[in-house]
Amino acid sequence: MSTPRVGFVSLGCPKALVDSEQILTQLRAEGYAVVPTYHEADLVVVNTCGFVDAAIEESLDAIGEAIAENGRVIVTGCLGAKGDIVRRRYPGLLAVTGPHAAQEVMHAVHAHLPKPHDPFADLVPPQGIRLTPRHYAYLKISEGCNHRCTFCIIPSLRGDLVSRPIGQVMLEAERLVNAGVRELVVISQDTSAYGVDRKFAAEVWNGRPLGTHMTGLAGALGELGVWVRLMYVYPYPHVDDVLPLMADGKLLPYLDVPLQHASHRILRQMKRPANTEDTLRRLERWRAVCPEITIRSTFIVGFPGETDEDFATLLEFMREAQLDRVGCFKYSPVEGATANGLAGAVDEEIKQERFERFMELQSAISREKLQHKIGTEIVALVDTIDDEGLVVARSSADAPDIDGVVIADSGEHDVAAGDFVRITITASDEHDLYGDMIG
Ligand code: SF4
Repeated sequence: MSTPRVGFVSLGCPKALVDSEQILTQLRAEGYAVVPTYHEADLVVVNTCGFVDAAIEESLDAIGEAIAENGRVIVTGCLGAKGDIVRRRYPGLLAVTGPHAAQEVMHAVHAHLPKPHDPFADLVPPQGIRLTPRHYAYLKISEGCNHRCTFCIIPSLRGDLVSRPIGQVMLEAERLVNAGVRELVVISQDTSAYGVDRKFAAEVWNGRPLGTHMTGLAGALGELGVWVRLMYVYPYPHVDDVLPLMADGKLLPYLDVPLQHASHRILRQMKRPANTEDTLRRLERWRAVCPEITIRSTFIVGFPGETDEDFATLLEFMREAQLDRVGCFKYSPVEGATANGLAGAVDEEIKQERFERFMELQSAISREKLQHKIGTEIVALVDTIDDEGLVVARSSADAPDIDGVVIADSGEHDVAAGDFVRITITASDEHDLYGDMIG
């Protein structure tokens, strides 16, 4: 019998990407071939995103394309949790599952494409199959979320927080590092809540007890000798404890802290846990402990009920907070979110205008901050290098795919993706730095 062949389409956020990696790893472990085109595949798995309306449309289009080109399609991921939307549009699907459902996907694959007799298990590397370049990897430490932010349907799609045991996370991290990964990007829905559901239970790691807790995890990862970047961190008091690790060079001096707004009224409507004055004081303290820290955040403008005054509060906060990296979304209703029932929908034109004013302010802040780096020497991790020797790299301030990059001419230097290089910064713009390689 010839090797059964599966096509795979992966959409969505890094969490969905990790789900895809788990399914691909399992497929390869069982001896399936993963093929790059629809016509070579015996069936196609589409991992979808259902976070905002634009993502839902993109996912539905991807399913439609897979059906048109191949016909035998299994759908998984966040949009799959809204099974009736998908089923209503495409009744002929082989199966539909929700997110984080590798086993269900495998059952569906087995039912429609029996697995081969010889599983080729030895051909799968111990770190599994990854979709990221060889030199960095996402490390998912938990699934689900205990918050109930009114604009978000993730808890209803993915359930309450379930943390992975710390021993399992560390084992995966070690395997990744042994396989050549130079940067671990820690992800979850709420990294600072890691371990709450396990009551911070300790496990033995390298002969000593290690609690299932963000601080313990950060310390242990910091001993692996690679870059460690923490994403999706809420500004809870215990986050202060990881700052000394950043100041000591054990963790990258980088925190991604999704704040979403600065007006108390709007934060309450959003059911967000943070308080703006506390946040400003906390940022100040973090910068005092680790002056080189990069702070990234995301915000929503045009949330229902947002007045001119709320928006002015947000802009004032941005001026004071001087955040380094910022993403902004115009509020858009997501089917099933509580916020859809809130009064005071903001007109689309006003949303757009606020979005532009917000981005204009943040661009000026970012431009000025990056200008201060001209003349400094930084260490960067090379992502790509083109035929002309132009290097695209990232510094500690740049998370993959969402932040800026550092661009330099490799000149006489022999460089490859995954190398750490030193660059003198000679120019900057709103997002990126430019410089000369010195080694
Ligand atoms: S913290 Fe809020 S926005 Fe983030 S996943 Fe949980 S409910 Fe959604």
